[in-house]
Amino acid sequence: MQSFEYELQRAILGRLDRGDDVLDGLTAFCKRNGVEVGHIEAVGAVERGGVGFYDHEARVYHEIRFDEGMEIASLVGNISGRDGEAFLHCHVILADSEGRCFGGHLLDGNVAVACEFSITVLKGVAPERTYDEATGLALW
Ligand code: ZN
Repeated sequence: MQSFEYELQRAILGRLDRGDDVLDGLTAFCKRNGVEVGHIEAVGAVERGGVGFYDHEARVYHEIRFDEGMEIASLVGNISGRDGEAFLHCHVILADSEGRCFGGHLLDGNVAVACEFSITVLKGVAPERTYDEATGLALW
């Protein structure tokens, strides 16, 4: 088990522009604004998108792609370090026009219609992700 304790530094509310890639846009925002460690949440909608499922036996992400508008019913994640840069690990629940939900690891390719985010920025040094042999993932 690993854990880290922090005090709150500040909180940020913001939104992406229409057409922004959700993961790339949020990552770029954090890098531009000196957010190195924290927690992120967002709601909104995408024109198209996708989620990932980690197959822990094969150690690969299977991608589930949607070529339709979906609600970002919930996006949650954390911000820490990987290769010396801010790295976002987010999961998302996308809801279709009938409210059916699909969830998983937030992939590239979620194109925002709107994405309102809130970031809790923590004070201190971000934990750094390194390769974990037991899972095949980059973990703290
Ligand atoms: Zn994940």
